[in-house]
Amino acid sequence: MKKITIAIDGFSSTGKSTVAKQLAKALGYVYVDSGAMYRAVTYYAMQNDIISNDSFNVEKLISELNEVKICFKYNDRLGFAEVYLNGINVEKEVRTLEVSQWVSKVAEISEVRKMLVRQQQQMGQEKGVVMDGRDIGTVVFPDAELKLFMTASAETRAKRRYKELLERNEKVSYEDVLSNVESRDLIDSTREDSPLIKADDAIEIDNSNLNLEEQFEKLYNLAQNAINHQ
Ligand code: C5P
Repeated sequence: MKKITIAIDGFSSTGKSTVAKQLAKALGYVYVDSGAMYRAVTYYAMQNDIISNDSFNVEKLISELNEVKICFKYNDRLGFAEVYLNGINVEKEVRTLEVSQWVSKVAEISEVRKMLVRQQQQMGQEKGVVMDGRDIGTVVFPDAELKLFMTASAETRAKRRYKELLERNEKVSYEDVLSNVESRDLIDSTREDSPLIKADDAIEIDNSNLNLEEQFEKLYNLAQNAINHQ
């Protein structure tokens, strides 16, 4: 059976990674969370005096980019690959609200995007990959056989993210999470380099009213269809 590339894009907290993981598992494909890579660069900046309080030294980040080594290692117990920064597992550290508050600023920088897109394209060379992000169907894999664009209302999305953060014992307010989701969406969809837009050939999925099983079934059928028709 020939393998395909599945690109999943959409706004923050639309459940892209949940369904991408489910699809990868069911199809025996590799799942790549491209957002984790932008988050890891942001975390590097926070750890190296590039981002502190309200200041962000963009030039310093660009000059240090070749010292930022990101990779994924599969964790058998969790059933997905965790993100590593310079050899250290930072899966948990990159998910904080603090990283979320800076990541879209980091993702606006063309030099950062160029470096990460190159790595993402290498990861997808052999196909058999499900990658989620903001520019996967438009920039990283414009020839992907299946492109999905996920949407849901801002409130639905903020509630999901808030629940996730509470489960990780982060002390955050719902209002902060909602305003973060809205401000990231605005920056992501209006930036100059690779803004978040639906690719012409992407299938839009609004999952506000779908439960996880319904969503999975729908997308799994689309994937099977794409595999059979290539
Ligand atoms: O997917 P996640 O919400 O973890 O992504 C974090 C941020 O990384 C996004 O808000 C966006 O600014 C950036 N991003 C991006 N391009 C991608 C994936 C993520 O610009 N392909």
